[in-house]
Amino acid sequence: MRVIAIEEHFTTNEHVKALRSLIHRVNSGSADAMDESNISFEARWVLPAKLPADDGGIMEKLLDVGEHRIHVMDEAGIDMQVLSIMSPGVQAFDGETARILAKSINEELAEIVERNPRRYAGLATIAPQDPKTAAEELKRAVMELGLKGVCIHSHTKGEYLDDRKYWNIFAMAEKLSVPIYLHPRIPSPDMVRPYLTYPCLATGMWGFSAEVSLHAMRLICSGLFDQYPGLRIILGHFGEALPFWLWRLDNRWQKNLFGMQLKKKPGDYVRENFLVTTSGMFHHPSLQCAYSTLSADRILFAVDYPFESCNDAVTFIRSAPMSDDEKGQMFGRNAEKLLKL
Ligand code: MN
Repeated sequence: MRVIAIEEHFTTNEHVKALRSLIHRVNSGSADAMDESNISFEARWVLPAKLPADDGGIMEKLLDVGEHRIHVMDEAGIDMQVLSIMSPGVQAFDGETARILAKSINEELAEIVERNPRRYAGLATIAPQDPKTAAEELKRAVMELGLKGVCIHSHTKGEYLDDRKYWNIFAMAEKLSVPIYLHPRIPSPDMVRPYLTYPCLATGMWGFSAEVSLHAMRLICSGLFDQYPGLRIILGHFGEALPFWLWRLDNRWQKNLFGMQLKKKPGDYVRENFLVTTSGMFHHPSLQCAYSTLSADRILFAVDYPFESCNDAVTFIRSAPMSDDEKGQMFGRNAEKLLKL
């Protein structure tokens, strides 16, 4: 069975340089961005200073799309990585910087894929700071550069995509029939403060999931999927806990305490418009929850390289108490269909 991992990260030298420059400006007090106070925490991999010993060469791995990465994939039995830019993408920059950088990241990614189309595919980077050009860049990335969808790193300057000014991005994704991977970053400025008392909470242990699940629920509550029923959103970490909450979402919704209207129940949108991945969540009970609430054709394999182990991720699915046919779906066939690989 073909093994395709779909939340696998890379970066470019230009992206690293821009992040370093932003961190420098924030630290020296000259950045005007209201929401970038945690950027050095968020993009800590790119700091030139010595990092704690446990960084595991993350920076080198993010920049490498050559021999070492292919070797790691081969060892684990991964046939293809679908690459996306590391968090926070270009969403921490001012609009003009972000727009220019997104274009060059997409071009560089298209070249990486072109050099090795059997092993790599790519998800585009866009700058939601300017929704109109973001939608145009998505179109260019898919139609001209051959990328298979787009990865958006949750909030942009503290704003969420349920705001109607961003909906032309969704209109374009639906028109192009490509999915949006809604990827974590540190919670938005209005939400992050209580996490920072214990900094581990702001990232993968809790904050990432809290941020993205809130974002996904805002999309559902906004009526976005009534307007764009063909839209498909991918969530990592088995759906950022939404499958676990499914019953309660609908139960509370049906009480209609706030008089909000949607065509369907919130859980219906989770089941119909969302797909989930195994990224960074190699735990059989969590898989069982997603499997029983959504089914095997809504679950896609992902590692979250280089932050997680390719071997652990593959072993986890191979040892799952499911049929080979269902493992084949999760490992590759769902991705082939969704991303047209
Ligand atoms: Mn990731």
